[in-house]
Amino acid sequence: EMFGQLSTSLEAAWSKLRGEEILTKENIVEPMRDIRRALLEADVSLPVVRRFVQTVSDQAVGTGLIRGVRPDQQLVKIVNEELVKLMGGEVSDLVFSKSGTTVILLAGLQGVGKTTVCAKLCFYLKKLGKSCMMVAADVYRPAAIDQLTILGDQVGVPVYKEGTEVRPSQIAKNGLEEARKKKVDVVIVDTAGRLQIDKAMMDELKEVKQAVNPTEVLLVVDAMTGQEAAALVTTFNIEIGITGAILTKLDGDSRGGAALSVREVSGKPIKLVGRGERMEDLEPFYPDRMAGRILGMGDVLTFVEKAQEVMKQEDAQELQKKIMSAKFDFNDFLKQTRAVAQMGSVSRVLGMIPGMGKVTPAQIREAEKNLIVMESMINAMTPEEREKPELLAESPARRKRVATESGKTVQQVSQLVAQLFQMRVRMKNLLGVMEGGSIPALKN
Ligand code: GDP
Repeated sequence: EMFGQLSTSLEAAWSKLRGEEILTKENIVEPMRDIRRALLEADVSLPVVRRFVQTVSDQAVGTGLIRGVRPDQQLVKIVNEELVKLMGGEVSDLVFSKSGTTVILLAGLQGVGKTTVCAKLCFYLKKLGKSCMMVAADVYRPAAIDQLTILGDQVGVPVYKEGTEVRPSQIAKNGLEEARKKKVDVVIVDTAGRLQIDKAMMDELKEVKQAVNPTEVLLVVDAMTGQEAAALVTTFNIEIGITGAILTKLDGDSRGGAALSVREVSGKPIKLVGRGERMEDLEPFYPDRMAGRILGMGDVLTFVEKAQEVMKQEDAQELQKKIMSAKFDFNDFLKQTRAVAQMGSVSRVLGMIPGMGKVTPAQIREAEKNLIVMESMINAMTPEEREKPELLAESPARRKRVATESGKTVQQVSQLVAQLFQMRVRMKNLLGVMEGGSIPALKN
């Protein structure tokens, strides 16, 4: 369990204040010692721990008596606030260039999850409505290019590659040119990782950076490496100049040191965190929620937000009405499939809350994969076709056009159209309002 140890150790600190009426210089000594030990055990660097403990102590003694608030609660509140500040306070959003193509350069040591992050980032950006392209500039491991290609297929994003014989900076430059031609919103450049920092890697990164003038230069670091991650961010920032970090593997039993130290040590924010191996397991880094999680209060905010996203009541009712009147069209289809896909993340969040089990049906996973393919086909339809799927059922020429525009086969488009009509019938069946079969045969 993430931060489990840290949370438990901190609880010991609060418990020492039970029965006290007010926070004093004397009675915070023991709890502060616990907090100090807890942070060090979580692999937060010593100077950061020292500063943190000092700040919290100063504030605690100064608070005096607040009616209705126990001293231990008061200390929790102060620690919470200081943890949030330590991690940078506000969420630090990705920056996009105001016009034209945004370039994101990814750097990181081998095995930290950089290639995975590249694809996850595309998945994330697509949800924000941005088109993406990945550039394979890791020319030392042919396997890395293959891996990126496979992931690109998975998230429905093209991968620009030129094999292993061309200079990374040249590939990056050509990739960017290609992306600009195609009016792609965001280009993500995947660079080579080494087992450890060396001059050749830094020089190459500098060269790539210079070649594409990125809006964001993000260092991918592994949360499991604790304060070492913070040190890496510092080094990369000094060497090549970065805009932030992406922290991966926060789902593992990382002790928290990385999440807590990166900002304070390097001055650079953690922008995103990876919390699993699936494409949707990348999200913004919210210092306040992270602090809440460390203090063992559950990530209630994330839960509420995700749940709201999916369970929009009105939408569901609207949908039901449409189904009843057999007007369920491709717009509804898209909405509904997206909702199902999002349930995947919700079920994960539910899993984080004590007392709630995982509820992920296997179908959700499948739906997530199909969604991307379906979206591209539906996006290639005209608004009229989306509202009147019959048009597509009747016209092979229209289906062919959709296939060409979405880069899918005619067969896939036909399948999608058939699926929509089947869904109409199935849904009407479910609601008990079925009035005879109405799946039209697709005309050829
Ligand atoms: P790269 O060498 O930096 O490109 O690393 P990869 O992207 O190939 O990832 C290395 C391994 O870490 C793979 O098995 C990934 O599935 C896994 N991985 C990446 N990100 C995460 C994460 O956030 N959580 C977990 N549990 N595994 C991850």
